Amino acid sequence: MGKLFRCVTGLMALSWAGVGVAAAELTDTQTIAATVRDRAMSGQSVAWSLLSELTTDIGPRPAGSAAERAAAEWAATKLRGFGFANVSLQSFPMVAWQRGAERLELLGQRGPQLLAATALGGSPPTPAPGLEAEIVAFPSLQALQAAPPGSLTGKIALVTRKLVVTQDGTGYLAALGARSAGPTEAASRGAIAFLMRSLGTDGHRFPHTGSTRYSGETGPIPAFALGAPDADQIERRMRSGEKVKVRLFSSASFTKNAQSQNVVAEIPGKQHPQEVVLIGAHLDCWDLGTGAIDDGSGVAIVTAAAQLILEQPRRPKRTIRIVLFGSEEVTQPHNAPLGDKVYARAHAGEMPSHVLTGESDFGAGWIYSVSLPRGLADTPFAATLRELLIPIGTDISKWDAEHTGTDVKPLVDLGVPSFKLNHDGSLYFNYHHTADDTLDKIEPATLSQNVAAWAAVVWLAADTDVNFRESARP
Ligand SMILES: [Zn+2]
Repeated sequence: MGKLFRCVTGLMALSWAGVGVAAAELTDTQTIAATVRDRAMSGQSVAWSLLSELTTDIGPRPAGSAAERAAAEWAATKLRGFGFANVSLQSFPMVAWQRGAERLELLGQRGPQLLAATALGGSPPTPAPGLEAEIVAFPSLQALQAAPPGSLTGKIALVTRKLVVTQDGTGYLAALGARSAGPTEAASRGAIAFLMRSLGTDGHRFPHTGSTRYSGETGPIPAFALGAPDADQIERRMRSGEKVKVRLFSSASFTKNAQSQNVVAEIPGKQHPQEVVLIGAHLDCWDLGTGAIDDGSGVAIVTAAAQLILEQPRRPKRTIRIVLFGSEEVTQPHNAPLGDKVYARAHAGEMPSHVLTGESDFGAGWIYSVSLPRGLADTPFAATLRELLIPIGTDISKWDAEHTGTDVKPLVDLGVPSFKLNHDGSLYFNYHHTADDTLDKIEPATLSQNVAAWAAVVWLAADTDVNFRESARP
């Protein structure tokens, strides 16, 4: 009986502790990596409480709003409370966009039908009485771009392209052009407004907002995203040969002298404090929901992972720096510097000593693999990491990290090597940028798995001497 008990407890102790590796053989670095991973997996991280507070007590926090400022102050207070060093707010000016009242009606002989639609971020208001015109539909942005100049004069353009479900989110990247460039393309052909089928993979009447960008000589035109069933409704009407008209209204507005901010905090490295492993997420979110998947979960994941590292008996060799970016969701005219560029500019002199970066901005779905900087997938570093991650269902990807994220892109462009934790994002675009992006969409167990993977990767990267730049050299 005693023998059986010892055997069972021995197995329990090994359950998350590096399968196939006896505890005594683990180096100190690996012991700590396994410890932070196991604490996270068993739910002993602050991730859920952070995410719950951010989405409940602060809620919607659009870029440049008082709520975004409150979120940054909340985060700074939390980070100081946990014991992070050098906690600071990095403020910058911006033009903030506010949604107003909005309404879209499908007109017809039997009276108007109210459609589920929402204005795209950055779109101008309609005239006070609203706009009313006939729709010209296009199956894609490319089809709209092929329309001759002047062919949309006085009309409303509609792009009906559907988003393809993919695990890695590439379906979104492929379709994004309709939202970012569609309004300008329509306006340059004479359209007075722009509509699009939401960039979403759900079949619900939750329109997906998101920022659009205006360029060129024609002025900005009002732009809306439609719920998927509402886009279907318009398409069916058009198929019967009917000239379909809509009436739309938006009282969106802009605040010229708004302010946003990044929150920066550190665990100073013990041996090479000048060498920085930077991990990021963004605090702002769209106004319709409470930003649980985008990107409250990212904020919770990177903060909780670093907090577990902070609890350990010794510090890592390198500095771990958390940056919670402001204003990720918006596009500003004339390339005004927002959170990502503000950080990169303010720390330009330190870029050569930023050794690695990554961000969490794709929800909290299961992490199935980690992409490392080029040249690293077959190294001892990757082998050690794989041994730590396989027990939690995560492998090392054979594909190098690319499209690491919007907020760390300026760093990557300046030559900082990056890594990426690859989520199962199959459900992400059911909720992304909708009123339905709320706390209940997060699975506590997968949130814990995310923190576990992040904590192990970040600790190992910060406690190694591997030069990720050298490895990445061709
Ligand atoms: Zn995001």
